[in-house]
Amino acid sequence: MKELKLLYLYPDMLELYGDYGNIQVLKYRCEKRGIKLIVDKYSIGYEAPNFKEYDIVFAGGGADNEQSILSEDLVKYSENIKQAVENGTFFLLICGAYQLFGKYYKGVEGNIIPGLEIFDYYTEAASDRKKRCIGNIITEVELDGEKTKVIGFENHGGQTFNVSTPFGKTAYGNGNKFEDSEEGYFQKNVIATYLHGPLLSKNPKVADYIIQYCLSRKEGTNVTLEALDDTLEEKCREQLLEKFMREK
Ligand code: GLN
Repeated sequence: MKELKLLYLYPDMLELYGDYGNIQVLKYRCEKRGIKLIVDKYSIGYEAPNFKEYDIVFAGGGADNEQSILSEDLVKYSENIKQAVENGTFFLLICGAYQLFGKYYKGVEGNIIPGLEIFDYYTEAASDRKKRCIGNIITEVELDGEKTKVIGFENHGGQTFNVSTPFGKTAYGNGNKFEDSEEGYFQKNVIATYLHGPLLSKNPKVADYIIQYCLSRKEGTNVTLEALDDTLEEKCREQLLEKFMREK
């Protein structure tokens, strides 16, 4: 049986709005194709993980408080994580985790939470605590040359600047900053995004992009995934897209 290994970072601290659902979707879509997805967890106090062992690393969103607690632990691994990114391990990072892979996160009080500094972007909280980017969002992305609309839900005070290669263009909602035209950060093996939802249940194409990338990398050849019946998912997407565009 084919196998992929996923490392779930800080599941007890970074888990908002069903982010864990992303792992469940990956597992489900892998199993449908006879691929076993092994999930290991890492959090503060656990034995140090060997990042080289994993095909996918996942981390979800978290509030400023959790981010400041775990940042000290996370930055201990900055060299290992940097190497894993360079070696092509896939990273799926949602909201709070997205922010922590940049240079820093500056809280409302001006406190700096150090990031991993793997990517050049940085995030600063809006000065008014009550002003947040909250609501449904649609991002237009291109994955392997195919355009798709990615649907999600955002809730962040942090405004992310200096993103060299965004995940996509905002068609509805805010994105990296208030009323921004761009959302997230992307490179072939990294999707860092503000989209909760969970992201992958609303966007099976994104899930398959990740699975296909990881299998192809592991097998050293261009793997084509067997298509799944996504009739219900597509119906749900059509309804959501129509509803949001009507509200626009
Ligand atoms: N604490 C961060 C912010 O508010 C991230 C929140 C989240 O992960 N949803 O910007």
